[in-house]
Amino acid sequence: MKALVVNCGSSSVKYALFEMDEEQKIAWGLIERIGLPEAYYKRQIINAEEKKEVIKVKNHTEAIELVIEELLDRKAGSITDINEIAVVGHRIVHGGDKFSKSVLVTEEVKKDLKNCFSIAPLHTPAHYAGIVAVEKMLPGIPSVLVFDTAFHQTMPDYAYMYALPYEFYEKDHIRRYGFHGTSHNYVSQRAAKMLGKPLNKLNLITAHLGNGSSITAIEKGRVVDTSMGFTPLQGVVMGTRCGDIDSAIIAYLLDKYSQYKKGSVLNDLLNKKSGLAGISGISGDMRAIIQAVGEGNKRAELAFNMLTYSIKKYIGAYYGILNGVDGLVFTAGIGENSAPVRESVCKNLSVLGIEIDIKKNSECSDEERFISAKKSKVKVMIIPTNEELMIARESKRVC
Ligand code: ADP
Repeated sequence: MKALVVNCGSSSVKYALFEMDEEQKIAWGLIERIGLPEAYYKRQIINAEEKKEVIKVKNHTEAIELVIEELLDRKAGSITDINEIAVVGHRIVHGGDKFSKSVLVTEEVKKDLKNCFSIAPLHTPAHYAGIVAVEKMLPGIPSVLVFDTAFHQTMPDYAYMYALPYEFYEKDHIRRYGFHGTSHNYVSQRAAKMLGKPLNKLNLITAHLGNGSSITAIEKGRVVDTSMGFTPLQGVVMGTRCGDIDSAIIAYLLDKYSQYKKGSVLNDLLNKKSGLAGISGISGDMRAIIQAVGEGNKRAELAFNMLTYSIKKYIGAYYGILNGVDGLVFTAGIGENSAPVRESVCKNLSVLGIEIDIKKNSECSDEERFISAKKSKVKVMIIPTNEELMIARESKRVC
């Protein structure tokens, strides 16, 4: 069977088609700058040439139409009939507290999703448009929603509540939700395979470190805490996001600078101009930071140290709540590729039984692998994440 994975962002659509019998990705692509005069389109079909184009794509409906046309392309296409697609899996950023697992799309589910528009106003309307467009283009083919927040829905209330007046939780659903759930879910399953034990017998700390980063504490296969919160801004220092700060700073900025009275300007500051970029003044990209550190740039060094220090603090905290950890997993762009970040994070954690092998840590590979020292009680692993495959698997399971 074939599963199509669709990820509709605010102005982009990414897709991947999987042959699920072998779990092989057979076609994938992306459309960016939807709604702008010149959208950018790129697609790759296995064994065919890559195709790139600048075209006009008015909205998500047109983008989905283009995706289906390309999949059916007579020369290079990967299907000959839309009915070869058995299921469509949609990545959904925020399911609020309404969705604790992946669901089949029904009219009721669409209504519930609409009620989540206000918590993720940039993403959810785009997801919704994608779902409607898929229904139009692929009538009768089931769609499944897979939520970034769902894996974290097992957190206990004392972990997900903020100590604000209770009415804000009741009225406005303000609580910790957590993100990157599909990735944490995927790597925890892979870690269980690597450790040769069932996931429900393992305690893990998973560190998804990319442009956005989150750390998750997993007790016997269930999330008990995660570093991102009501939005993906909370937690460790990120590329351009500030992570944890004293929330009184917000009130201070609002009072002192008139431009921040507009929520979107303040949001921009915290989400797009902070983190590595804000501290270094160079870039939010870890590769640029590491290069600048090598050239002796002090602010880049400070940014690097702040990021790794903040990750280390979460690992220590989660070690405390898990009462013993079997595995520590690094994943995503930085987690998979940056030996200096992993080394700095794991330095001086031998008291917790976390010790990495410096040589193994410095080797480059795309494979999942152990990097812990022989004597390390906690197994440290690098596991390349695969959110698309996880969504395809979930869609197959649910439909
Ligand atoms: P996103 O959150 O957008 O999915 P990614 O998971 O792709 O992000 O991670 C992007 C981050 O990974 C960037 O900071 C980038 O610099 C970093 N990264 C990618 N490759 C390397 C590398 N070889 N060394 C250090 N950092 C890397």
